[in-house]
Amino acid sequence: MTDCIFCRIVAGEVPADEVVSSELSFAFRDLSPQAPTHVLVIPRQHITHAGDVGPEHAAAVADLLVTATRVAEIDGLTERGYRLVFNVGEDAGNSVPHLHLHVLGGRQMGWPPWSG
Ligand code: AMP
Repeated sequence: MTDCIFCRIVAGEVPADEVVSSELSFAFRDLSPQAPTHVLVIPRQHITHAGDVGPEHAAAVADLLVTATRVAEIDGLTERGYRLVFNVGEDAGNSVPHLHLHVLGGRQMGWPPWSG
């Protein structure tokens, strides 16, 4: 999709601070980080959001998790832990309509998540 900012990042048309990539996924640092590590892992294929995932996306979605583990290893988060987040829809604050997995770490995360 040419009007999708994350598709344009995957295509190399828009610059991004790449962390790691795979055949199916691309991981890059969030422009507005909410934690010392704030990385977005996206499928190279355009999928609108987590609520649109179907069985045909199984490999792409599994690869997001594998790539998120690579991000955690690269940023040294494996021992202390990290948070993985998918936002779906307006109430969750989903602002970019291309599936993305937030990888957040490097500080103590609030729990419950709605506490900040
Ligand atoms: P969400 O609110 O779950 O849709 O998250 C979208 C995220 O994308 C936000 O955290 C934005 O800061 C981030 N974002 C938007 N455009 C870019 C970009 N060009 N490069 C990196 N991060 C971006």
